[in-house]
Amino acid sequence: MRFTFVTLFPQLVEGYFSASILGRAIEEEKLSIDFRNPREYTKDKFNRVDAPMIGGGAGMLMTPQPLMDTLDTLKATSPEAHIIFLTPVAKRFTQNDAKRLAKKRHIVLVSGRYEGIDERVIEAQADEVFSIGDYILTGGELASMVLCDAISRNVEGVLGNSESLQVESFEAPLLEAPSFTKPTVYEENAVVSEFLKGNHSKITDLKRGLALCKTKYFRPDLYKKGITDEK
Ligand code: SAM
Repeated sequence: MRFTFVTLFPQLVEGYFSASILGRAIEEEKLSIDFRNPREYTKDKFNRVDAPMIGGGAGMLMTPQPLMDTLDTLKATSPEAHIIFLTPVAKRFTQNDAKRLAKKRHIVLVSGRYEGIDERVIEAQADEVFSIGDYILTGGELASMVLCDAISRNVEGVLGNSESLQVESFEAPLLEAPSFTKPTVYEENAVVSEFLKGNHSKITDLKRGLALCKTKYFRPDLYKKGITDEK
């Protein structure tokens, strides 16, 4: 699967994908990542990619031409490119979106900067728009990396143990039950004793109960959905 980051600051993104699980997936050619910088497409004689807002307002906006040309060039060589803009003015990205998008062949993640992007670019080019939460970041790069990471984990072969995808938070759609590792007692705190007894059906039931408690406490919205789905 291919990801293209459209960003004025590729250096903010590059390092993240050089190590760990995603770094290995890139080495093994299960994923590939490339970059397009709209500044390289600008026709402005001073190399500008931003301008003041028409109608007033604080700050600058990314102008249409560099982004339009960047995306048109990309689409000309990759007609299957699925173009996603990151913006706070959109629905929230979820695990279901990550799973759905993992089936695409080429995803393009467009990061805004300054006060954002001229709306006409989004209208003309976006297949989808996503927010990662109700707060404002200085740019879309972190949000693009969040999507790329979450989608990549669902691409076949990227995780060593794909079973872990099936028991993670938001499946079922509960939060994951508390988990423990060695040592069984740490500074007088013992793990749940039932987890040590090897009765797997009992452990599964117990984990389900703990997942329900945790979800009810932290995410009553998901808890309600989980209970309704079961009926
Ligand atoms: N003026 C915009 C507003 O009030 O909605 C905020 C622009 S923000 C400073 C600059 C860029 O950061 C946006 O174009 C977008 O790409 C990115 N961004 C900021 N917050 C985000 C969020 N919560 N989710 C996704 N992208 C975000």
